[in-house]
Amino acid sequence: MALAQAREVRTTCPYCGVGCGVLAGVAAGGAVSVRGDPDHPANFGRLCSKGSALADTLDLDGRLLHPHVGERRATWDEAMALVAAKFADAIDRHGPDSVAFYLSGQLLTEDYYVANKLMKGFIGAANVDTNSRLCMASSVAGHRRAFGSDTVPGTYEDLDLADLVVIVGANPAWCHPVLHQRIAAARERRPRMRVVLVDPRRTMSADAADLHLAIAPDGDVALFAGLLGHLARSTALDRDYIARFTTGFEATLAVASRMDLGTVTALTGLPARQIGQFYALFAATEKTVTVFSQGVNQSACGTDKVNAIINCHLATGRIGRPGMGPFSLTGQPNAMGGREVGGLANMLAAHLDIEDAGHRDIARRFWRSPTIAARAGLKAVDLFRAVGDGRIRALWIMATNPVDSLPEADAVRAGLAACPFVVVSDVMAQTDTTRLAHVRLPSLAWGEKDGTVTNSERRVSRQRAFLPAPGEARADWQQIAELGRRLGHGDAFAWSDAAAVFAEYAAMTAFENGGSRDLDVGAFAAISRPDYDRLEPFQWPRPAGAQPISTRFFASGGFFTPDGKARFIATEPAVAARTTGGHALVLNTGRVRDHWHTLTRTGKSARLSAHVGEPFAELHPADAAAFGVTDADIVEVASAHGRVLVRARITDRQRRGAVFVPMHWNDKYAGRARIDAVIAAVTDPTSGQPALKRAAVSVRRFAALVHGFAVSQCRPDARHCDYWAVGRIEGGWRLELAHGKPLGDIEAVARVLFGAECRDGLEAVAYRDGEHGHGRLALFDGPRLAAALFLAPEPVAVSRSWAVRQLGLEHAERAARWRLVAGRPAADMPDKGAIVCSCFGVGAGEIAAAARSGCASVAAVGAATGAGTNCGSCRGEIRGIIDAHRAVAAG
Ligand code: SF4
Repeated sequence: MALAQAREVRTTCPYCGVGCGVLAGVAAGGAVSVRGDPDHPANFGRLCSKGSALADTLDLDGRLLHPHVGERRATWDEAMALVAAKFADAIDRHGPDSVAFYLSGQLLTEDYYVANKLMKGFIGAANVDTNSRLCMASSVAGHRRAFGSDTVPGTYEDLDLADLVVIVGANPAWCHPVLHQRIAAARERRPRMRVVLVDPRRTMSADAADLHLAIAPDGDVALFAGLLGHLARSTALDRDYIARFTTGFEATLAVASRMDLGTVTALTGLPARQIGQFYALFAATEKTVTVFSQGVNQSACGTDKVNAIINCHLATGRIGRPGMGPFSLTGQPNAMGGREVGGLANMLAAHLDIEDAGHRDIARRFWRSPTIAARAGLKAVDLFRAVGDGRIRALWIMATNPVDSLPEADAVRAGLAACPFVVVSDVMAQTDTTRLAHVRLPSLAWGEKDGTVTNSERRVSRQRAFLPAPGEARADWQQIAELGRRLGHGDAFAWSDAAAVFAEYAAMTAFENGGSRDLDVGAFAAISRPDYDRLEPFQWPRPAGAQPISTRFFASGGFFTPDGKARFIATEPAVAARTTGGHALVLNTGRVRDHWHTLTRTGKSARLSAHVGEPFAELHPADAAAFGVTDADIVEVASAHGRVLVRARITDRQRRGAVFVPMHWNDKYAGRARIDAVIAAVTDPTSGQPALKRAAVSVRRFAALVHGFAVSQCRPDARHCDYWAVGRIEGGWRLELAHGKPLGDIEAVARVLFGAECRDGLEAVAYRDGEHGHGRLALFDGPRLAAALFLAPEPVAVSRSWAVRQLGLEHAERAARWRLVAGRPAADMPDKGAIVCSCFGVGAGEIAAAARSGCASVAAVGAATGAGTNCGSCRGEIRGIIDAHRAVAAG
């Protein structure tokens, strides 16, 4: 058989909302490599660590490849017949509101469009919500309150042009790394540019900022209301802009003026001097962009925070002009695309408003549909409450894992277990959510599917397939269209391909628009399949026949409110900050640098799993001391809703009184680390977005009698332990464990962990010190290390990066084997330390050694070790190590 020709396909990264262009190379033998697309305007060739490792995540290990009914493999026809029968039965008996779709910012715009059309136009309900509700619903609500439309006014270019970038509730160094690097590059070119970070934690983004305001949780409304008052007292107000293009300024200012400096200080926990510094900088800098993300959105007052920020930009007229504007960063790759086609239960497609009878009529006539949803549907948290109390009888979940990602996640799991009919479409066979499905449907993954995504700056890019569909996997839009046809709406769901779906969506944005709605991509209403295949990234709006057109909004008004004016929104800070309700600490959640969501994709990559190997809780040293917790202890973080066991990390980067736990770990990778199970389902009253960054929790040390660490070629099974977490390494797995009771001798523990098929026939070398509770064991397959296990009564003090590197290496000599069991690197194999640069596997120890040998800059460390010279995501951490070395050297 002739080998396929090598080719390179232009596509888009499937992780964050930066939306970087990717060139996926497929070699003649099928091997895939990725690199940044130098011609894509979102990244100009850059990729972060996650994007650079995309090729590591493409194997079919764990994939769902065929439809299943229960545990039984089924045909597509059988599975879809059952889905259609169950949905039709629920609608007949209980009405359209008894069924729901729960979608994902991972879906393509075409998938979203088809699901919304079916639910809102043909089933006649609006119960279509998405995990974007957890991501940026407060930004959507804030935009619509102020602008009358969900419009991000600016572009990424504004970050290059700004003299001041204010980053609020975001950690772009880890969560939007390519934008972080873009800001850093702009700063290097223009040293007068300033960066201010507003975030309770001293994240890696703080290290790159001129000023870090370590604000109290939810202090943002007070900070920006106070800023509005300050601006009014300065010369920074743009009275002409306010008068011509806005309403409500005086009433809003009257409320904001109550925020004197003392009140702002009290509500933000910030020193008056820092607040004054920030206010003066903002007032004096015309070219200011305020970037915000989940720290603003994921809050019980998230919409007010967004409007408090927008108020300051409207008041100064700093909007829609180069280098100016409020700028919401989306978390997910296609959160913005979902918004465009009505991916939220309170919106219609094409930015039509479900609360507007005229808009509902436009949608119904465009779709030629028999009905149209008469009111907003259930937002994510309410939707799953309705699943739990039996109002939802049939639910279809696509490309998301709500059992891990929604607040009160244990209640979500119980609700799904009790729901009469649950369909899950996913690429993975076993997630915490697929386990509860009556029907599982195999979806196409990144690299296999075809469609469009929209990034944070309204730039639409193609995701293109470069791999064949595995097994019987199908595109999500095809699955929903099949349901539409089986429910009797054949003509409306008969697209031949994704290009036809996109063309229909584009036509809808132009339908009876005439400039009345911001979103218009009518230029593509008749796009052909070849043109769709060639489609270059573009920013909307792109109305038919109108080229060129500005891609910024609102420099000269033109808002999408009834009077065409922007609305100032008076925001009242919560003066009585929510207490912790008898619990001691405030929980904050978020991402780590190299992982994404619930690990279904990045958990497959050894290099991405090297940076942070297990779930953790970051505690301030004073809090840790108060709770009797020392570094690397196991701690329980608990609330009335649930508890997790995670590793303690003690750091003064954390605010006192707060604890940070990452969102990624789940039952597949850890024993008890689903942090969203701990979080109360408190939501913003306007947006319905849950407050995932502020929950009341208690923290206590878990009294572990045994701690353990292992590397193994087979996946170890530690489910009998109180605490465990596994992660991929090259050629196998690593395991951390802890238990509150004795586990037995080292051989007995190894037998349980490694299983007979991983142990049999291997040679064991063991050491035990029963008196002190230490045990070490190594299993050799001929000369190669197949597994190693270290047990101790305290956290195991063995270098993880060294141990990981030993797996699969030859250790033929007796001395080498005993060195392994002793957990000591040989002199010629120094300890790398914790991995900092995941692209080249460079550890903190190596970077510190380079600093000690005279490397005084990130570039010098890069030249000596390679660290930071590829994607650059680790440069902040390298800078921190160099600075720490300097501080030590200076005495
Ligand atoms: Fe992907 Fe990283 Fe770009 Fe985000 S910044 S789109 S994760 S490469």
